[in-house]
Amino acid sequence: MEVLRSDIVISGGSYAGLTLALALAKTLGPDISITVIDRQTAPSGQRDVRASAISAGPRHMLEVLGIWPLVRDEAQDVLEIQLTDSPLEAGVRPVLLTYDNTLDSGEPASCIVPNHALAMALENAADREPAIQRLRPANASGFTDGDPFLRVHLGDGRSIDTRLLVAADGRRSRLREAAGIKCIGWSYEQTGIVTQVEHELPHKGRAIQHFLPGGPFAILPLKGNRSCITWSEDAARAREILTYDDTAFLAEVEKRFAGRYGSVRLAGPRASWPLEMHLARRYIAPRFALIGDAAHGVHPIAGQGLNLAFRDIAALTESVADAVRIGLTPGDASALERYEQWRRFDSGLSAATFDALNRLFSNDVTLVRSAREAGLALVDRIPALKRMFVSEAAGLSGEVPRLLRGELA
Ligand SMILES: Cc1cc2nc3c(=O)[nH]c(=O)nc-3n(C[C@H](O)[C@H](O)[C@H](O)COP(=O)(O)OP(=O)(O)OC[C@H]3O[C@@H](n4cnc5c(N)ncnc54)[C@H](O)[C@@H]3O)c2cc1C
Repeated sequence: MEVLRSDIVISGGSYAGLTLALALAKTLGPDISITVIDRQTAPSGQRDVRASAISAGPRHMLEVLGIWPLVRDEAQDVLEIQLTDSPLEAGVRPVLLTYDNTLDSGEPASCIVPNHALAMALENAADREPAIQRLRPANASGFTDGDPFLRVHLGDGRSIDTRLLVAADGRRSRLREAAGIKCIGWSYEQTGIVTQVEHELPHKGRAIQHFLPGGPFAILPLKGNRSCITWSEDAARAREILTYDDTAFLAEVEKRFAGRYGSVRLAGPRASWPLEMHLARRYIAPRFALIGDAAHGVHPIAGQGLNLAFRDIAALTESVADAVRIGLTPGDASALERYEQWRRFDSGLSAATFDALNRLFSNDVTLVRSAREAGLALVDRIPALKRMFVSEAAGLSGEVPRLLRGELA
């Protein structure tokens, strides 16, 4: 059977895999070959109805990689964030916390980008990059470690010898399992329902997070009078809602909008995801690393899953590039250990924080409701604390990799 050869192999050509390929190609230059394999022929994000909140740090990286100019026209700046916490049937919905979402530099701390636009931009950019080869459909079923090459096994019997294999193959990562890396995690018994809507009144760049007992209902502003809703709902209730016809479904959406933006109409298909948390116990093995959802899955309450993947990419690219510059191979153990130390604690902390927030807000216990209302009201009165949250969510605190600062690694 045919044995191919590539300096770096990335399994999974979706958001994380393609961004990493581009970051490595731009940083390492054309002499290092990169192969991206995906089990699907069509780009995975082509029909993704979601929109992602992309923080300032990751946006800087997308700019350096030439991806941002391809999505800029569809990206909506988030100028203000509002948090509300009241039962669905409440007539009045007081805003508990509002914050200005701009950084001290004047740039927005986040933008909302439709996922399909990001997916197509990544496809186009990767197709133009000479160092990147695409292999699809190709199913990475496992690997055998060897020295100096690791051998990646494909479902059709072919294999690829490589110096570094990166698993960007999503939450059910086959390669993570093949590496014997265990995960900790649990299901939230919630479903993420996503659709896009058009509304009568303008959103003025405001993102709204309305905490309801079934889970947070987020209204993310898109270009024009459109928004993407990311609606976490109790799994059983979500199953029922998803069977509704468009009229009944829209009525549920309108109930949650509570007349904020005048009349609302559905402007896209609906899709749903089971919500769960998982964290890989290790991010690396010899000549092998995990990134993105293959390494961690978090609750979408703060819109940070993809941002964590972008932080992985920036840290892994810098670790590998620094190793290659001093004559080591891309999969050198010192580079991978540096990557793991950089990222594992940060993603673990983020996953735990989002988990706690979801537990705190997705319930209707009177005592808990009063305590969180008091907590939010307190935060609302402390501008320094609000600025700290904005800067943290922007991915610009701690040891920031060069790509997130807008420099090539
Ligand atoms: C409802 C919802 C809303 C969200 N909102 C936000 C948000 O606002 N902001 C944010 O930052 N994040 C958000 N996220 C999280 C974000 O969408 C994910 O973190 C992100 O999609 C992960 O991308 P990925 O490339 O790691 O994995 P995936 O997109 O799952 O890609 C995995 C790829 O691997 C391929 N693959 C799988 N197995 C194999 C194999 N054996 N061989 C070859 N290829 C394989 C698949 O075909 C696929 O292309 C949200 C998530 C959900 C569920």
